Amino acid sequence: MQLDTIAAISTPMGEGAIAIVRLSGDQAIEIAGSLFQGVGGKKLTDVASHTIHYGHILDPKTKEVAEEVMVSVMKGPKTFTKEDVIEINCHGGLVSVNRVLQLVLNAGARLAEPGEFTKRAFLNGRIDLSQAEAVMDLIRAKTDRAMNVALGQMDGRLSRLIQKLRQEILETLAHVEVNIDYPEYDDVEEMTHQLLIEKANYVKKEIENLLQTSQQGKILREGLSTVIVGRPNVGKSSLLNSLVQENKAIVTDIPGTTRDVIEEYVNVRGVPLRLLDTAGIRETEDIVERIGVERSRQVLKEADLILLVLNYADELTAEDVNIFKAVEGMDVIVIVNKTDLPQKIDLGRVKTLAREHKLVTTSLLEDVGVNELEEAIASLFFAGSIEAGDMTYVSNSRHIALLNQAHQSIEEAISGVEAGVPIDIVQIDLTRTWEILGEIIGDSVHESLIDQLFSQFCLGK
Ligand code: GDP
Ligand code: ZN
Repeated sequence: MQLDTIAAISTPMGEGAIAIVRLSGDQAIEIAGSLFQGVGGKKLTDVASHTIHYGHILDPKTKEVAEEVMVSVMKGPKTFTKEDVIEINCHGGLVSVNRVLQLVLNAGARLAEPGEFTKRAFLNGRIDLSQAEAVMDLIRAKTDRAMNVALGQMDGRLSRLIQKLRQEILETLAHVEVNIDYPEYDDVEEMTHQLLIEKANYVKKEIENLLQTSQQGKILREGLSTVIVGRPNVGKSSLLNSLVQENKAIVTDIPGTTRDVIEEYVNVRGVPLRLLDTAGIRETEDIVERIGVERSRQVLKEADLILLVLNYADELTAEDVNIFKAVEGMDVIVIVNKTDLPQKIDLGRVKTLAREHKLVTTSLLEDVGVNELEEAIASLFFAGSIEAGDMTYVSNSRHIALLNQAHQSIEEAISGVEAGVPIDIVQIDLTRTWEILGEIIGDSVHESLIDQLFSQFCLGK
């Protein structure tokens, strides 16, 4: 494949002081070489692969030094894109990095699109699509566990599993074909059915196993979606703040000032939470707040965990009871807040309403009960079937959707065999399953989807 040479600023994670201008393509070394002045007249076009060189980037027009640099030269195919790659490490600030990039572009490189380096790695066969998506997840990972899931996927763990299943289907199809073409036995039809059922059930089971990890995978990737609900002024924003230990949500004395949904990521004893503070669930005349309330209802439906906050210093209201109704059947922790104030709430009634749910009392003002709450969250999460270690998690919604499709088509194949449907029809379902699985690793995807996927990347990756 003949592709032009691309360039972008690519700043390594966690290293603010250094910025890198990265080039990839056939002309990468030549372009960088035309700007580089090494010690003792060293030429980049002469140096060995995977070496690093000190020198200066000169503006070819003025011959002025633009930047003091270290340049890494990596010749394909042993690079991330499989192409020749140059990395110009700039030590100056943003201005000088931009200047170097400008010079590189003037010298013949094209500014890379977001994700284009990773896209090239995919197009050049260095990584498959699920691995490319893992790079994207890695960039976005907000917790260590999410990072591990992405790393596992980048390592090709999911790809290998999918390839194994596809191979299994392919062999089955071939086997059936042979049986049809060369019937060695009288009961060849019976045998073929037997084989098909066995193999299809195996594939189905494996897909189910993968799908079972998807809920956890999603949580690990995106955080346990946790919604804080309660009447205005009970202390929702205070709770969010207390958990975040920052003051991003606005805390005020005026009821209903939390107008919209506010999101925060926190790590509660190893449990990744995506915390959402909502405007109180209640009818209101205030249109600005209404929008917030409607969004709250939507958010509520998608929550993994509900933190339901009540006011210790106030009587239970119909609104409180309505909130209990709204979260029925979900994972809920009930928090009775403001225990520093005189009690007005009927705790016996709260317990009745809370039923099997965990109940915690807090004074967020005096920082009482927060530990107990965090413990409740952690025990709820770890009591579940979350498994640690190096399991393969499916966390990407595109993959989950495809696995569901594959599951459906393999089920159709199975019920087809059982209903005595002609083998060639069953073969179509099996082939479809094989194709759908292939889309996960990018074996049979449309170019438009590829463009769309890669356009979500950050620049310089
Ligand atoms: P929200 O409307 O539910 O988000 O409630 P806020 O978090 O904005 O809190 C409303 C008011 O209650 C604020 O003035 C808080 O400082 C106060 N507050 C929150 N928690 C406590 C508490 O435990 N005790 C007391 N006395 N006041 C609290
Ligand atoms: Zn609030």
